[in-house]
Amino acid sequence: MREYEAVIGMEVHVESKTNSKMFCSCINGRGLETQPNINICPICTGHPGTLPVPNKQALVKLARFGQALQCSIADYTWFERKSYFYPDLPKGYQITQYERPLCYDGQIEIMTSKGPKHIRITRIHMEEDTGKLSHINGKTVVDYNRAGLPLMELVTEPDIRNAEEAKIFCEELQLILRYLDISDGDMDKGQMRCEVNISLREKGTETFGTKVEIKNLNSFRVVEQAIEYEIIRQTEVLERGESVIQETRGWDDGKAITFSQRKKENAHDYRYFVEPDIPPFKTADIIIEAASITAELPIAKRKRFLGEYQLASQQVEILVRNKALADYFEQTVSELKAWMISESKEFTPEEHTKLVKLSANYLLTELIKHYGEKGLTFDNSPITAENYAEFIKIVFSGEVSSTGAQTLLLQMIETGSDPSDIVESQGLKQVSDTNALQGIVDKVIAENPKVVLDYQNGNENVIQFLVGQVMRHSKGSANPQVAKQLLHDTIIQNK
Ligand SMILES: [Zn+2]
Repeated sequence: MREYEAVIGMEVHVESKTNSKMFCSCINGRGLETQPNINICPICTGHPGTLPVPNKQALVKLARFGQALQCSIADYTWFERKSYFYPDLPKGYQITQYERPLCYDGQIEIMTSKGPKHIRITRIHMEEDTGKLSHINGKTVVDYNRAGLPLMELVTEPDIRNAEEAKIFCEELQLILRYLDISDGDMDKGQMRCEVNISLREKGTETFGTKVEIKNLNSFRVVEQAIEYEIIRQTEVLERGESVIQETRGWDDGKAITFSQRKKENAHDYRYFVEPDIPPFKTADIIIEAASITAELPIAKRKRFLGEYQLASQQVEILVRNKALADYFEQTVSELKAWMISESKEFTPEEHTKLVKLSANYLLTELIKHYGEKGLTFDNSPITAENYAEFIKIVFSGEVSSTGAQTLLLQMIETGSDPSDIVESQGLKQVSDTNALQGIVDKVIAENPKVVLDYQNGNENVIQFLVGQVMRHSKGSANPQVAKQLLHDTIIQNK
């Protein structure tokens, strides 16, 4: 069998999070999930004689998106009319950008399992969204609440080679949009919609094969699955000696297959021409305003977290993908740093690292799990970062055992109280004092004569069971190392 390589390009539509629609003052987002046609006006429904006015906020957000993707930004641009007739397009044409997109020639770096990879961005332009058609009981109804929302269209060069890269590319775009507050990019709400162009060619050759377009991919999982499916399908077609047909395919999620929607006829004649109702405009002030939106990008945060905190790359990825969680982690670390400076003793670099790692470990294993189970988020955390830092100090200094730490954390989530108060009121302080533990140790030995005998006969593993009993009787407050030593000493003495 010949070896093939997939050549994949993506087209991504993103609804911009602005106050109003692209060319009128209707509110952006109103009525989308409630009542049809309550958020429309003569402009977005294309009444004759109305005039569109471009939304500067949308253009600033688009320029900022372009800057984040290292695009050139046009210093002078305009809108075009794209003529086509479809019931969800009330004007009979769409205002879009054709000849001169606001952003062009960019690139994005993504982290794949095989290392970093660059994907070139051909262009990102601004257009208006269409309305929505629904088919109910054999009738078609149209809702124009979405018509005229600012919609950014991003097109990549065919630099993607497999499903994993495509999925990570989409995820990274969504992160950038969220970090910069350009869009929430929720795919299930249609705020971000992906299309894939995919063709195969024999490995080592340069000519492109016939490409197939897959439309309406509404989750990252589906992007990945559709590409995987299509690579197999096209390989089989080529291996049979047939040719791939140029066509548009859809995704059937139930059957997990792509299916032919329509064969490519001749290219549409959209009869683009410059939008006569909006004069061409200079973009200097848009570019300046965009550049003033400062926020750390995910890629920068990733690199900083790896270097500054020396966390494992999986931990960094969890933090980077959840901005509220990352902010929470950094607040905790800054609390801990302030504490270390205020303490009279000097902390070694190893102790610094240990505190940061403890913070990350408890946060990304325990706290994240409990929050997930209870439906809590870090935007609205019942444990303040200050109290969480306090908790880490308590664990670090050995004031509570690891069992005690679990109890303490749960109590903190339940009550939102100060951890030191909980340690005090619940008696969670770790007991390392042998005199204080001797009573419990004696009791555990007396209760478990068989296990003690096993230990005396050389089965060293059973000591863990006895330690567990001491922990239970002390309600988790015993220092397990001290308990173990004390058990050993007492059993040997009694032998
Ligand atoms: Zn309107």
